[in-house]
Amino acid sequence: MQFRDLKKQYQVLKPEIDKAMIEVATNCNFINGQQVKDLEKKLAEYVGVKHCVTCANGTDALSMAMMAWNIGEGDAIFVPDFTFFSSGEIVSHAGATPVFVDVDRNTFNIDAQHLEQQIKSILKEGKLTPKVIVAVDLFGLPADFKAIRGIAEKYNLFVLEDGAQGFGGNIEGKMACSFGDISTTSFFPAKPLGCYGDGGAVFTNDDNTAEILDSIRVHGKGEMKYDNVRIGLNSRLDTIQAAILSIKLKAFKEYELQDINAVAKTYTEYLSEIVKTPNVPKGFYSSWAQYTIQLENKSTRDKLQAALKAEGIPSMVYYPKPMHKQEAFKDQVYTEGAFPNTLQLCDTVLSLPMHPYLQDADIKDVVAIIKSCCG
Ligand SMILES: *Cc1c(COP(=O)(O)O)cnc(C)c1O
Repeated sequence: MQFRDLKKQYQVLKPEIDKAMIEVATNCNFINGQQVKDLEKKLAEYVGVKHCVTCANGTDALSMAMMAWNIGEGDAIFVPDFTFFSSGEIVSHAGATPVFVDVDRNTFNIDAQHLEQQIKSILKEGKLTPKVIVAVDLFGLPADFKAIRGIAEKYNLFVLEDGAQGFGGNIEGKMACSFGDISTTSFFPAKPLGCYGDGGAVFTNDDNTAEILDSIRVHGKGEMKYDNVRIGLNSRLDTIQAAILSIKLKAFKEYELQDINAVAKTYTEYLSEIVKTPNVPKGFYSSWAQYTIQLENKSTRDKLQAALKAEGIPSMVYYPKPMHKQEAFKDQVYTEGAFPNTLQLCDTVLSLPMHPYLQDADIKDVVAIIKSCCG
């Protein structure tokens, strides 16, 4: 069994994808091909924002937001403690200070109450200037943007939606990657919408910000490529990746997103009496980057993972370590005991095989092992 079955997906889409890849090779328009512009238009339309600027990966997409807002030394950026390393790495990379915030145990996403507490304590200390809230749509579920927006307005902060895992989700019909002043996503192969290598995108409704992002992605270009008005990056999405993504976006919209939601529903039906299954709040829709259960404690979790492995079933621990305990952030000053939910999640979460092509029989096999181990 595959954790995320990309081979199966390729077999289904093979004729169209092969044709698209050969077309790029034939035309040799490897950089800035028309396919990139077409994809940006389709992505912006799907997400419901004015501008989409594609780039080389999801980490660069986040960095481009930091650069567009001139984030640097002395700025405090609020980041969930339970997320992929990138969400905090880009803050330190910009020279600013990440301030970690605990998450909600039911949604895995940033805890609005603790967020406000952290903002207040930074203001009280008076050393750093609060600038941005990074809200991650973890495991495919959009963050609580109603609460986050309220706090952002109250303290005059930007919202950066890290939608690397959230693409395709929505809140009452409003799509993920449309909630931030700037929102980003990643097309890493295993993400909800993945390409055949690295890729990413930035979304915004603001014309001026979009223009700056477009400049940053090509060495801070001005009127033309050899006129450089700011320090930027080399962070373009390859034409071949854009061509592949156009085909995969169609499948994503037409059936993959629905199918993966059906898989989640089946898992939850079988498992909700035995383990803590993921909670999707009313009005929210997940794109299920991961299907993550919670076990009683670390030893139960580790025992279950070993039992699954013995039967050839892959599972993953996303994430084993809180951000505030990462060696790379060892200069961080934090209050011991400020992140009880993250600490607990790191010990008790387990992500199960999850993709739109998962068969009922496979789900039953996974469930049977969980039942015999934890039932
Ligand atoms: C994958 C991921 C990223 C980074 O995306 P890359 O394309 O791998 O650079 C950032 N944030 C989160 C939450 C992610 O899951």
